[in-house]
This record gives sequence, structure tokens and C-alpha cells, in this order.
Amino acid sequence: MPSDLVIVYHRQPYEEVEENGKTVFRENKSPNGIVPTLKSFFGTADRASWIAWKLAEDPADPGFDRVVEINDAHGRYSVSRLPLTMDQVRSFYHVSSKEAFWPILHSFKEKFNYDPVDWPTFREVNWAFAEAAAREAAKGARVWIHDYNLWLVPGYLRQLRSDVTISFFHHTPFPAADMFNVLPWRREIVESLLACDIVGFHIPRYAANFLSVAQSLFDVTPVAREAVDPELVSDGTALSERSTPTLIEFDGRYVAISASSVGVATDFIESRANDSRVRADAQAIRADLGDVRLVLSVGRTDYTKGGLDQLESFERLLTDTPDLRGTIRLMHVSVSADRNMSAYARTQTGIEEAAGRINGRFGTLEWQPVALISRAIPFDDLIKYYLAADVAWITPLVDGMNLVCKEYVAARTDGDGVLVLSEFAGAAVELNSAVITNPFSHRSMDQALLQALAMPEDERRTRMAALRAVVRRYSVAAWGQSQQAQFDAAIARKAG
Ligand code: UDP
Repeated sequence: MPSDLVIVYHRQPYEEVEENGKTVFRENKSPNGIVPTLKSFFGTADRASWIAWKLAEDPADPGFDRVVEINDAHGRYSVSRLPLTMDQVRSFYHVSSKEAFWPILHSFKEKFNYDPVDWPTFREVNWAFAEAAAREAAKGARVWIHDYNLWLVPGYLRQLRSDVTISFFHHTPFPAADMFNVLPWRREIVESLLACDIVGFHIPRYAANFLSVAQSLFDVTPVAREAVDPELVSDGTALSERSTPTLIEFDGRYVAISASSVGVATDFIESRANDSRVRADAQAIRADLGDVRLVLSVGRTDYTKGGLDQLESFERLLTDTPDLRGTIRLMHVSVSADRNMSAYARTQTGIEEAAGRINGRFGTLEWQPVALISRAIPFDDLIKYYLAADVAWITPLVDGMNLVCKEYVAARTDGDGVLVLSEFAGAAVELNSAVITNPFSHRSMDQALLQALAMPEDERRTRMAALRAVVRRYSVAAWGQSQQAQFDAAIARKAG
């Protein structure tokens, strides 16, 4: 049966595990990722589908389950799994997406790796996603496509189905034309995106960059700043206040370019943070530290996350300010990426070397300056460290949004704690009551951490209250509403 809502996201929306010889589909472990939010949309559709890929040794194997029906807390929906071989996954995901697109999206031209990209395979995989979406979509359905590894899907889908409403959301930054146009496939990518009804970004700067890229390649006319009917947004303000989409005309159709930042599940995080056991564990962590103050950094091991720059800043501070020795500890959670990708392996080695050097130079029998953790910490445990940390030190060189900083704020139901945040995280647009720092400047980095450590309690509480108000208001639920409202507006525009 065709679906009114089709979500196209490269990962499957559950964990697939074998139990007693049977395949079981479990809810994803991270309650706070984007997947539960996307699934919550299923409640709004009579019939919904999800399109993802699944590794297959032989894609022609008749035993491969291409479509599975799921019935979970989010309702009933079907998942179409596209069988991809390991070679296809490597080419489409590890090479094209991670070695070519990712560095350009994050403005690291020098890491851009053009030669190994196999463009026909990228096209082929995107075509398979588009075909599956076209097959699943009911007449006039909403098709919601996610992220740069599916850039060509909107264009292909439009060729197959002119009736559907297509929205594409970028979960990354989007750079200016000088950077984006380094991609040799730029025209094909942007032309595909212009086949959408809505092209969405986290913050207005990325949306403006996309518009400038589109204008550098095609004859694109901005028509209007579109006023969205406030009735479409349940609290009457959330969307129009944050982003008034720019409407452009291309090829005789309208495309809304919009910005609305993804937030976190504030109610859930607060309820975990208020749980008596979680609080007791957080207190135990604090008690273990004694008078030593805890600085917490959490992220994936990725050159964009600025982990090495943090360790170098920490080392400078301990070198230049001997009084700090023995009084602070950096808990550096840097979750290792796939070691097959050489760029990430180099970052990991750099971080391990720096942490070892700092501990060797400054550590004593009683005090270890850096605790480096390379494995992912389960979310429930992470919350305990959010609660125990004096400072969350989140200083990516560039980051589309950064949810860790929002989670830290949401967890601080006690109203204390300091957030030091890079001005190049998308979240900095909203979280301007944090101590904002420029991770490319040694002085700015070092001073921001010193300022955070010296901040008096009343200032900490004032800033945290302001941060908490923003994080609550722009929760992931508000983001979901804004996406829904944009679909409604696009459908009304086409009907009118
Ligand atoms: N995370 C986690 N355990 C860890 C480190 C991170 O569960 O040890 C989660 C974290 O809570 C957050 C997500 O991973 O929800 C990271 O999201 P973010 O937007 O900050 O960065 P991304 O990895 O998407 O670039």
C-alpha cells in the first residue's frame, strides 16, 4: 500500500539483532538521536515508509528481505532496505561522502580527496534510493530526504514523480560558493536540490550560502521572503521567529530555502537528570574528584571537532599557569571513528599522543590531568558527567549544529555549570549566553577556559538560565513542528 509520508535516510531506523536464531528489531540505543524524531512523524501519516540501505553479500539473493514491516512505539511503518555490497558502501559512503563531500561541507579544502571518487556508483546508489521512494509514495505524498550522501535523490525522484512534495534537510554546515564549487559535481548536485519544494538547513548562514551557490551556477531568482502562516505552527511563533524561508523560482517551480536548527529532547533529558539514581551517581563522581574541577569535552574523533586544539590549549594552560596543576581534570571523550578512514586515524593518533604527553609531563601519583576515553559512553552515563562537570568545553572548528552542548544545558536542571562553545558550531547562533570562543585563536581558547573556571556562581546561574530557556524553546519537538509547517506551506503553495 502506498505511503503518505516517505522518509529517506541512509541508516535503518532500528538496531537489527539476532536472538535465538531470529531477527529482532530494537529501538536505537541513543534516545536522543535524530531517528526517534523522524519516526515521531509517523504518527501524522496514515501509512508511512522509511528507505535505508542494508549490507548484502549478494544483492540478487532472493532470501534478502527488502521490505520489513515494523510496529513499534511510533506506530506501524514499512522499511525498504536497499541491498548494497561492501564495495558500493565503501564508494558511496566512505569515499564520496566522507572523503570528498564532508571536508568541503566543513571548509577543509586541503582534506578534499577527489581522485578515488567513483561518481557512477554514487549516482547508481542515489538512483536506487529515488526509485524506492517513488515506489513507496502515494499520490501527492510527502518525501523527506536527509543529508548530503543522498544529494542526487531529489532530482531523480522528480523525474519519476512530479506529484510528490520533496523536502531535503542538511544536517551539516553548508559553505559559501568559493568552497562548495570546488566539488566538480556541483551543478548536478545543486540542480538536484533545486528539484525540491523545500531545502532546509540548521541556521540562516548555511541557507544564505546555499542561495549564493545556486545563484553562482544557475539562473535562480529570489522571489520573496515567504511569510508562513503562524496558524501552522502550534505555538504560533516558533517558525516565523527563527526563519522566514526565502522563496526562489527555478525552472518554473518554487523552492523554499529555510533554516531551523535541530534541538534535543529536553523533557527526556530533564527527566533522566532528575532521576535519583542518576543524581546520586553524579554526586559520587564529584566526590571522587574532591577539590579538582572537571572540564568535559565530548565528541567524535573527527578533524572538524577540534579535539587536538583543545588538548594543545590545555597543555599551554598547565605550562603557563602552574597554579592550575592539580586543580583541574579534563575528561576528553573522543569517540573513535572507523579506523579504515585514514584522515580519522591520523586525528585519533594525534589526540592519543597529546593526551599521553600531557599526562607524562604534568601527572603525579595523586593527579592525572587528562582522562581520554575513545569508546562511546552510553547516554545515561553521559548525563551523569554532564551533571558533574564544572565546565563543558565544546569547541569544534566547524560543526553543523552540535547537540552535545544542548544536551549539557538540558541536563543542568540544577542551574549551575558553564558552557564554553565555539563560535563555529551552528548552536552558537542560539546559545549566545555561553562563553563563546574562537578555536583558531590560542589566546581566545585559553582565555575562555580560564574565564569559565573563574566565573562566580551568580554569573554561572544567570547564563545557564538564559541557555536553558533557549534549549527548551527550540527543542527537537519544535524542530519537528517547523518541518511539518514547511511541508504544509509548500503543499498549500502548490495548490494555490
Ligand atoms: N554521544 C554519546 N556517547 C558518547 C559521545 C556522544 O551518546 O560517548 C552522543 C551525544 O549524546 C550526541 C551525539 O552522540 O547526541 C553527538 O551529536 P553531535 O550533534 O554533538 O555530533 P555529531 O557526532 O552528530 O557530529
